[in-house]
Amino acid sequence: MSTAGAPRHDPIPIGEVATPPFARLPDPTSLFLQRAARFRALAAAANELKAYLFFLAELSDVQHRIQDGLPVAELPAAEALARAHDYGIPPLDRNRFVPDAAFEMTIDRLFAAMAEVEMPAVSVAALRRARAADAAMLAEMVRSVLADSIPVEAMAEHVFVAAALQVHFARLAAQLDAKSLTPVGDGACPVCGGPPVSSMVVGWRGAHGTRFCACALCAALWNYVRIKCTVCGSTKGIGYQEIDGGAGTVKAEACNECGSYVKILYQVNDPSLDPVADDVATLGLDLLVRETGLRRAGVNHFLQGY
Ligand SMILES: [Zn+2]
Ligand SMILES: [Zn+2]
Repeated sequence: MSTAGAPRHDPIPIGEVATPPFARLPDPTSLFLQRAARFRALAAAANELKAYLFFLAELSDVQHRIQDGLPVAELPAAEALARAHDYGIPPLDRNRFVPDAAFEMTIDRLFAAMAEVEMPAVSVAALRRARAADAAMLAEMVRSVLADSIPVEAMAEHVFVAAALQVHFARLAAQLDAKSLTPVGDGACPVCGGPPVSSMVVGWRGAHGTRFCACALCAALWNYVRIKCTVCGSTKGIGYQEIDGGAGTVKAEACNECGSYVKILYQVNDPSLDPVADDVATLGLDLLVRETGLRRAGVNHFLQGY
């Protein structure tokens, strides 16, 4: 099973001139719908994770459905956006998030809609706890998700809070101008400053074979050269690991310099791959890579605690 050890190459097709945009912003009106379909397909083919993948398909469906009729998510003031741009700070800095009416309604709707969904008992209990939280507790849960510091014993309830934040940040990000975005550092989303969930080699017209990191929170994609650590930026000591006998479309890009790895998805070979759903579904790869002592650096709100 194991292919851990010798680094493998990441073949780059030659003969094509690709001019990728620096960033691509999410379309929240299709993002979660497509993700739900992908979760459902992965669930149908899965063994141990089947129930959880079906649950995440339902959750993604709800993330889509609740958007209808939501108020516009409020962007920071134009001066603040301009200042962020001048100082190389992400325009929707997640550390400065202030909930607005749209977010309040998003999280209320998500909680209510999930209460109608058939879920594993552990999720039913977790949703009940999340709905019972007072305003201060809920604000603390929001902060924990945004800081990637979700307490181990309360991961199940944070899944619902994270799902609401994903909807809200995708709706905010969609209002920005992708051309105004600039790099804010290795491993940081140029929109919200968050870490990637995974990266993807895409097959887009004009950008064929280029790689984009996918934000775990706002779902923005940002261009990042290949064979370079998405965490520390090192181009030395990069290796690729995958599960033998797999489709070869999901690998772990491991870095010897910082001892971490983030998955890389070859969407160029399978357009249905989703940076969040396929990350969850390939948990087996994480277990394999972690045996080699590497640390998982990709953040996935639906894969906490692994
Ligand atoms: Zn982001
Ligand atoms: Zn590194």
